[in-house]
Amino acid sequence: AALARRVDALMRTVPDFPEPGIQFRDIMPLLADADAFAAVVDAFAAAVPEPVDLVAGMEARGFLLAAPVATALGAGVVPVRKAGKLPGPVASQSYALEYGTAAVEVQPFTIPDGARVLVIDDVLATGGTAAATVRLLEECGADVVGLSFLVELEALAGRAQLEGHRVDALLAL
Ligand code: IMP
Repeated sequence: AALARRVDALMRTVPDFPEPGIQFRDIMPLLADADAFAAVVDAFAAAVPEPVDLVAGMEARGFLLAAPVATALGAGVVPVRKAGKLPGPVASQSYALEYGTAAVEVQPFTIPDGARVLVIDDVLATGGTAAATVRLLEECGADVVGLSFLVELEALAGRAQLEGHRVDALLAL
């Protein structure tokens, strides 16, 4: 709870970014605070109840959290990228946005069959990105052992899209 308060105090809420009507939660001041960042990485690593082979971070802020958590857990890193960013061969999973669709991609040859994968991102909003990431990793043969977020925006009910998986958030808003 003390860490959640610290995360809350260090986050900015930016109205109308990147579009009118969106309240953007900005975690950059937290990343810039050495003690708070280290405490967050420790908390992410401590929250995982089982061994992890790989930590998958979602583009782009998820990368910044996934890498230090992976080294803390003795795991490797898999970047989950937006379509077109990774050299192939890639596996791809598309998902619906409010207007149109988007896709997430990984390099399947970096994921051994049965690898235990932890998924990390900064913010769980509608859950569309996270659900597509789970489908993508499972299609590649991974065992998704859980998803960890810094912030969960509860009103958007993203957790409902991740049923059957352990979902942790350091701070619920
Ligand atoms: P979702 O697919 O609606 O759950 O959106 C999650 C994705 O959008 C994640 O990759 C987040 O990093 C990003 N995102 C959504 N809302 C916010 C926000 O308020 N702050 C930072 N990132 C956000």
